[in-house]
Amino acid sequence: MRRAKILVTLGPASNTQEKIEKLIKAGANAVRINMSHGERKEHLALIQNARAAAEKLGSPLSILIDLAGPKIRTRSLKDKEPVLLHVGDKFTLTTRHIIGNDKEVSTTFSELPSSVKIGEPILLDDGSLELKVIDKNKTDVICEIVAGGLLYESKGINLPNTHLPIPSLTEKDRTDLDWALDQDIDYIALSFVRKAEDCHEVKRIIKSKNTRKFGRALLVAKIEKAEAIENLDDIIEATDGLMVARGDLGVETSVDLVPVYQKEIIQKSIANDKFVITATQMLQTMIDNPRPTRAEASDVANAVWDGTDAVMLSAETAAGNYPIESVLTMNKIINSAEKLRAGEIKRSIKFEQAPSGRTSQALCNAAGYCAKEKKTQKIAVFTESGLMARRLSAFRSGLLTFALTTSRRARHQLSLVWGVSPFYQEQPETTELMLRRGEQTLLDNDAVENGETIVMMAGRLSGLGLSSSVVVWTIGEDVPRR
Ligand code: PEP
Repeated sequence: MRRAKILVTLGPASNTQEKIEKLIKAGANAVRINMSHGERKEHLALIQNARAAAEKLGSPLSILIDLAGPKIRTRSLKDKEPVLLHVGDKFTLTTRHIIGNDKEVSTTFSELPSSVKIGEPILLDDGSLELKVIDKNKTDVICEIVAGGLLYESKGINLPNTHLPIPSLTEKDRTDLDWALDQDIDYIALSFVRKAEDCHEVKRIIKSKNTRKFGRALLVAKIEKAEAIENLDDIIEATDGLMVARGDLGVETSVDLVPVYQKEIIQKSIANDKFVITATQMLQTMIDNPRPTRAEASDVANAVWDGTDAVMLSAETAAGNYPIESVLTMNKIINSAEKLRAGEIKRSIKFEQAPSGRTSQALCNAAGYCAKEKKTQKIAVFTESGLMARRLSAFRSGLLTFALTTSRRARHQLSLVWGVSPFYQEQPETTELMLRRGEQTLLDNDAVENGETIVMMAGRLSGLGLSSSVVVWTIGEDVPRR
């Protein structure tokens, strides 16, 4: 069983139920819908097709809605063709609505001229192209091209030295968030988070729309700004999970710092029981080629050894020529990394298991200890919201973790979490029944065999008396031994 999970971005190359089924069969555990692109009816079709695909295959599948955030972009170009920008030439970004060419292009950000200063750099397309502001007026920012190349339509604009007068949660994000929560999706990713309050605000909205009883969408804070790195500890506390959004992070800070921040974000997330996704350009050459570069294969493996919960594919699956091959390749790289250097994650994560006073930590420690004593590789965890399974996962113990949940949403959410195989089961009336049903679910899914001893554990489960417990359980035997 693969421990690190695969999150794929959906788009024109992967928008039908059939294509999504193929992605799941190739190894996808979760799908991302990027609200920066496409229309509402396309987003809805993606959700419906993803759900239908997961249902047909009987697989858990997380759906993550990625809010666009205050991403500034260029607008359209003549005949939708890219234009070549030459070093030393002038190029204008304008708030006037024009069809762009190699001299000027419109921007989606109406306050661009008032926000930038003369002499500042402006980066286009994840920093592939660089401009320097040499003049400006009410509508236009006139630049000199410092690093040239092809500029395609609708590319991102980054202003690394400028504090933008726009909140992380834009008006469009609020509308998209409301809509996404009405669709009962599993994860919300917030782009360009700057401080903990950005996360608190989204969590307040989630709480107001999703009830505890039916489970809530979980928040992913995308770390892609220097300000977020400065406020990382507070953001980790405020969010459910994080994404190392390396595309914008490399432009907003600097590319040499991306690997440094990647390690820091992953280590701190795991130490604080938060899940973490490593994203962007993981198999970039597979957009156009059936094979990755050796450097890309190493990048995926190293993220796995860093301990990331999930690795993400962006344009590779959304718009590339080899979406299925990209997932198959990622699956293979992760399997080899985990099988052949299994101890690597333990080496990269410094566990500081100081007593926390938390019952969940005590139970996870006890379960790990029982598994070692009984020489079993398997732990089954009963969990309502999925929280206990996420806590157990953060130990990165390497044990096979089966989550048994009465919540359909938690089952889907847990498919993104490191080392956890989630299963749905009906609400039990007694602890005895909970164990019996759990055993049957594991047998039905070929997760265990009769006569095998495993560890079963539960956090607090509503309606059940002695639910915070750890049990050594032999499959097929009658009497539970606590
Ligand atoms: C990123 O910048 O790395 C990222 C994941 O965000 P997006 O794909 O939305 O630009």
